[in-house]
Amino acid sequence: MDSADYRFWTGRAADWAADYRDTIRTRPVRARTAPGEIAARIPAAPPEAPEPMEAIFADFERDIVPGMTHWQHPRFFAYFPANAAPVSVVAEILVSAMAAQCMLWQTSPAATELETRVLDWLRQALGLPDGFHGVIQDSASSATLAAVLTMRERALGWAGNRQGLAGVPAVRVYASPEAHSSVERAIWIAGIGADNLVRIPTHGPLRGMQAQALEAAITADRTAGFLPAGIVACIGGTSIGGTDDIAAVAAVAARHGLFLHVDAAWAGSAMICPEFRTLWAGVEAADSLVFNPHKWLGAQFDCSAHFVRDPEALVRTLAIRPDYLRTHGKDGVVNYSEWSVPLGRRFRALKLWFLIRAHGLDGLRTMIRNHVAWARDLAERIDAEPDFEIVSAPVLSLFSFRYKPAGCADADADALTQRLLTAINDDGRIYLTQTTVDGRYAIRFQAGQFETTRDDVTAAYDIITGIARGL
Ligand SMILES: *Cc1c(COP(=O)(O)O)cnc(C)c1O
Repeated sequence: MDSADYRFWTGRAADWAADYRDTIRTRPVRARTAPGEIAARIPAAPPEAPEPMEAIFADFERDIVPGMTHWQHPRFFAYFPANAAPVSVVAEILVSAMAAQCMLWQTSPAATELETRVLDWLRQALGLPDGFHGVIQDSASSATLAAVLTMRERALGWAGNRQGLAGVPAVRVYASPEAHSSVERAIWIAGIGADNLVRIPTHGPLRGMQAQALEAAITADRTAGFLPAGIVACIGGTSIGGTDDIAAVAAVAARHGLFLHVDAAWAGSAMICPEFRTLWAGVEAADSLVFNPHKWLGAQFDCSAHFVRDPEALVRTLAIRPDYLRTHGKDGVVNYSEWSVPLGRRFRALKLWFLIRAHGLDGLRTMIRNHVAWARDLAERIDAEPDFEIVSAPVLSLFSFRYKPAGCADADADALTQRLLTAINDDGRIYLTQTTVDGRYAIRFQAGQFETTRDDVTAAYDIITGIARGL
């Protein structure tokens, strides 16, 4: 592609992106394609000869876009949001254009130094003390893996990477059943084994770990010859927003010298609003915590903010430092690839810098406060409907409900709620997903898309209740 073509096609792509935003409300939120339908349109073998860009671009619009689910649709109420504020997309275009590998300070000093700065902006925005140091990971899963590896190494006196785990007491990690699946996968990958991830029973509406049960499990494990290493606490779990009492869990961690990692992947963004910080009261005692600006805050995927109290412990766990990666003559500089599992890293700080400056923390707080208020209004309206039941009360902007007309048995309500969800998503005007709460099927609702309005949430009420009546 020559320079003139590059200019032309990046311009076409930018125009397409703006048109996409302008027309997104006319599209069904969830893709309406059957499995295999898109693959059938793509040739099974690669082309030998170059093809014209016109043809490639036309095929993108014809064959690919109809198979997309529109995460930037203001009526996307499924999963958790994956916001890409337009300003962060602009930053990503610049990052793609420069395409730097930002693994070491010297491979792009600006990327490293901006990362240090904007992560400290985020730390202040969340109200975390200045003892926390931030790094951007590609995902919360990676941050949690890094934390689990650190707790393992710390418990093994930093010998695990060298010696492996054979012949040492089984390392034990504690979490609630509400913890994300990424915790269990980190346990697998760290060689700890799922049998050594101890699930602590929960209590209360937020389903937090019972501190006494946690304490008892650790003590029993010690007696049995296991090696308790750390705790992964959860704030705003994926199913219903399950949340541990961090202060209580941190007290147990401190008493037993365990490493405490906090997974606030979704809910962490809301902590820029001081009034929501009660949800993670005590977080200053954590050793490590992760939240995803690529979920609610508006930094386009991928962008996970990982804060640690002791970067030395993380670097001791993950840095290899072969000769060819040394930055000669620049001792004391930060090489962020030593803070994460992958070596290569994209320049992810730029979109955060653009985002925070263009919206200001106040603009971002207003968005989050609106989502929380609108979701609570919707939960109240659904609760007031005799045919509906709130299954889990709102945690920030997330709640779940089910459809259970009078006289309907539990098992029938499960099937009916499932039918309702399918009908809503086939309809396409909104998109919702499901969960299971105490063995019962429930529909999740979360408001969090960057451009969602109060009218969109009101429309969700009309669509949910209207489709239910037509079942
Ligand atoms: C989304 C989510 C994750 C996983 O985040 P990734 O960045 O996709 O790895 C982990 N924990 C919780 C609570 C989440 O909501």
